[in-house]
Amino acid sequence: MAEYPRVLVDLNKIKENVKILTKKCRESNIDVVGVGKVFSGSIEIARVMVEGGVKYLGDSRVENLKEFKSLGVPSVMIRMPMKTQIKEVIEHVDISLNSEIYIIELLNREAKKQDKIHKIILMIDLGDLREGILPEDVKNYIEKIIPMENIKLEGIGVNLSCYGGIIPSLENLGQLEEISIWIEKNYNIKLNIISGGNSSSLDLLLKNTIPSRINNLRLGESLIFGRETAYGKDLEGCFHDSVRLEAEIIELKEKESCPVGEIGFNAFGKKPIFVDRGIRKRAILAIGEQDVDHSDLRVVDKNLIILGASSDHLILDITDSMEKYRVGDIVKFKLDYSSLLELTTSPYVKKIFY
Ligand SMILES: *Cc1c(COP(=O)(O)O)cnc(C)c1O
Repeated sequence: MAEYPRVLVDLNKIKENVKILTKKCRESNIDVVGVGKVFSGSIEIARVMVEGGVKYLGDSRVENLKEFKSLGVPSVMIRMPMKTQIKEVIEHVDISLNSEIYIIELLNREAKKQDKIHKIILMIDLGDLREGILPEDVKNYIEKIIPMENIKLEGIGVNLSCYGGIIPSLENLGQLEEISIWIEKNYNIKLNIISGGNSSSLDLLLKNTIPSRINNLRLGESLIFGRETAYGKDLEGCFHDSVRLEAEIIELKEKESCPVGEIGFNAFGKKPIFVDRGIRKRAILAIGEQDVDHSDLRVVDKNLIILGASSDHLILDITDSMEKYRVGDIVKFKLDYSSLLELTTSPYVKKIFY
């Protein structure tokens, strides 16, 4: 018997998206790092990304990158290493994103111990205010990194549209390009990777205006949902419905739409507010805030209303639906990046790849 709740994943749709987008990137001489963190580093997704044409696999967690080794492509750690995991990073990761000289020194020392050369991408903050050194510190950092015997400065990169929501532009990516030219000229070295951001840089790429030195993008969301993330536009030819959630009805009853009695705090310490629609048919589903924030879910049956959720119960108003739902029936939901991230992180949610 099928087990619920479950996330259904159409691997062929994802592979098709990967093929289309890696091909587009290749036409602009851009290599793709496939980022599967929204799937908690699932090996099935990583494999499909490799089959679809990504050159590298990226993840923020070393334990996932360790698993990816069997797929035979270089791994990129897309979050800066912690001091407490330097040994594992050198052991299992080919390239790591970095922004702290203290950590890079530790990586150098450990790489020497393990007799390895560890590659790094130096991250530069061009306004989004998440990771990266400031442009005025580039000289200082480069001069400290270059003499390190067991560290290879593989390239530089930027991350945008994450914390600050800053959109990739000719200005900020142009600045990354200028910094790369300056480094190569000043220190007579070649940077193999100029990594121009994530799925939010695809809009510039598709308009053919991405600065020409950008030769690498780290893509996650666009490969799964077929959407660029600067403006949220659907990408032509891509699938947007590769994932779906199914959950099971465990109670179905007609009840008042306003709770009866004095209203105090709910399960999460908040005073809830209710819309009085009179007596309504309500369904309780066996899934809750422990698995996914209910405000991130969208029902496939447009006539259902999501009323709310507690830790393990999701409550729907099904009065207006054309379907005759019964206890034990399955309700389907569309997912976005946040809901998928939450669901794949819950050990209670089954993942079905097909
Ligand atoms: C998550 C992440 C990505 C991928 O971002 P998407 O928006 O999913 O394409 C790329 N780079 C870094 C550093 C990230 O943390």
